[in-house]
Amino acid sequence: MRKKIGVLALQGAFIEHIHMLEKLGATPVEIRQKSDFTPALDGIILPGGESTVMGNLLHKTGLFEPLRNALAEGLPALGTCAGLILMAKNAEDSAHKHLCVLGVTVRRHGFGRQINSFSTEGDFAGQGQVPMVFIRGPYITAVEDGVEILATAQDKIVAVRQKNLLGIAFHPELTGDTTVHEFFLKKVLTND
Ligand code: GLN
Repeated sequence: MRKKIGVLALQGAFIEHIHMLEKLGATPVEIRQKSDFTPALDGIILPGGESTVMGNLLHKTGLFEPLRNALAEGLPALGTCAGLILMAKNAEDSAHKHLCVLGVTVRRHGFGRQINSFSTEGDFAGQGQVPMVFIRGPYITAVEDGVEILATAQDKIVAVRQKNLLGIAFHPELTGDTTVHEFFLKKVLTND
């Protein structure tokens, strides 16, 4: 059975995630309103973009409560960049009132502003070297017990997993490398 993966499509870089899922044989489902978010989904991707705007749109569309409850109850989720910020329990430098389900603290724009966007390469979860593109990316400054650190860049934590939740500070959808999405589909979805 092809896996049905919701892609939050309110704002930001969601098209690239859709293409990545198609490439890997999963079925992407755009989530734009409450009625798109059904129990038939096997997982969901929260893309990069602008976390404040996306957070506000989640409230406006009525998606906030059902999404937060589903993530807290175990729906597998991949949050990239702004998506990671949305899932984090704490952020150091903003009035943080997002989904608050992933046991980490993030520093928004930790790697600097737009001009400081950069790419590098590093090991991801023992799966080999992956390209890492950072665009005004956050990094993680603290993790709770039970959070696995999957990757670092410039000595900062940039990828973590806590059970069903995978949080990535970079943009794996912007390169041809499928490692992170495959990890999500093969390991996180199967609770491995
Ligand atoms: N800095 C952005 C935010 O706070 C995230 C940047 C991104 O997703 N590329 O939402």
